[in-house]
Amino acid sequence: MSVKPLENVVIIGSGPAGWSAATYAARAQLEPLVFEGAISEKNRMAGTLPLGQLALTSEVENYAGFPAGDLGAFLASALPEARRMMMPPHEGHGVTGPELMELMRQQAANFGTRIVTDDITKVDFSSRPFKLFPAEGGVVQAKCVIVATGASANWLGLPSEERFKNRGVSACAVCDGALPRFRNKPLVVVGGGDSAVEEVTYLTKFASTVHLVHRRNALRASKIMAQRAFDNPKIKIHFDSGLAEVLGDDTAGVTGVRLESTTGGPDTTLDVTGVFLAIGHTPNTAFLDGQLKLTEKKYVVWTQHFRTATSVEGVFAAGDVADDYYRQAISAAGTGCMSALDAERWLAH
Ligand code: NAP
Repeated sequence: MSVKPLENVVIIGSGPAGWSAATYAARAQLEPLVFEGAISEKNRMAGTLPLGQLALTSEVENYAGFPAGDLGAFLASALPEARRMMMPPHEGHGVTGPELMELMRQQAANFGTRIVTDDITKVDFSSRPFKLFPAEGGVVQAKCVIVATGASANWLGLPSEERFKNRGVSACAVCDGALPRFRNKPLVVVGGGDSAVEEVTYLTKFASTVHLVHRRNALRASKIMAQRAFDNPKIKIHFDSGLAEVLGDDTAGVTGVRLESTTGGPDTTLDVTGVFLAIGHTPNTAFLDGQLKLTEKKYVVWTQHFRTATSVEGVFAAGDVADDYYRQAISAAGTGCMSALDAERWLAH
């Protein structure tokens, strides 16, 4: 991939915000360069592989323009064979997260977006042109930068959780749920939001029973998704409970969990072979090393009303990295579009 001595606009991140920004920037003839992230074990464990969080979900029912239907022929015509081969065959349902992300990536590429499959590990926004440092070495100089690095899954931070990561503990049901160790076995999901309900529902395809453990007595998830969990006979919901310890041994990996009551009741145990965390996300802003103004929760601050400008002129932010309120794929794509238009106007002036 040829990198220019001075780029107009570099987009960091490859979720809906990144690709939407790239499509708009490419159509504005800014010749954007996207750093989509590296395909590495480190990124897999951190939940920061290319194509973002949507690539870690199953069906996407609420992205405008993608109703349920057989998209197989369309996907075959829209994506090159090499990229299709990396995805499971389409089964006649609505679009899946990975499919939607491949389509967004292809759409940006069709307009000439250049893509580098690497991470940006460090930035220097202290002077112009801005400097970006890829993991594989070198330095990229840019007039304008769009930060669209999204957010990644949180962990509880229990020592037992750490001990059994990759041996029964996961933060991504869609990535790991089909593994043999989880088939026809009882599993547990921790959390009460849309992600937790989506994961618990997805896991019923493989597991014998899926326990949903939530610290309060009401789910945060949207009503339609929560109702599906209540109606599913394979799902058992444990309200007012928290994960206190993952149980297991070095040979078998996870064998159970100890739950503690959040209302003063006694601890209980569940026999499970898998533990899935779905307790929210943290924005991927550590690599910025304090060079953009962040909120208390480490989200990038948008400094102008209804604009994607940040505390550094010429640096824009889009998607979940700057949005702890809506956090939807479609709103991320929307702010991605806005960031490219903001960048285009800023460069023109
Ligand atoms: P979320 O809405 O922030 O929910 C996180 C859940 O984890 C909450 O129920 C929270 O409990 C619980 N939690 C947080 N910290 C915890 C801790 N330390 N111990 C135990 N429980 C903890 O996050 P999300 O479910 O990942 O969803 C993020 C966004 O993506 C949301 O806007 C959601 O609507 C969206 N999303 C949409 C879809 C869809 O529409 N298909 C699917 C997935 C996600 P409390 O409720 O007590 O705070």
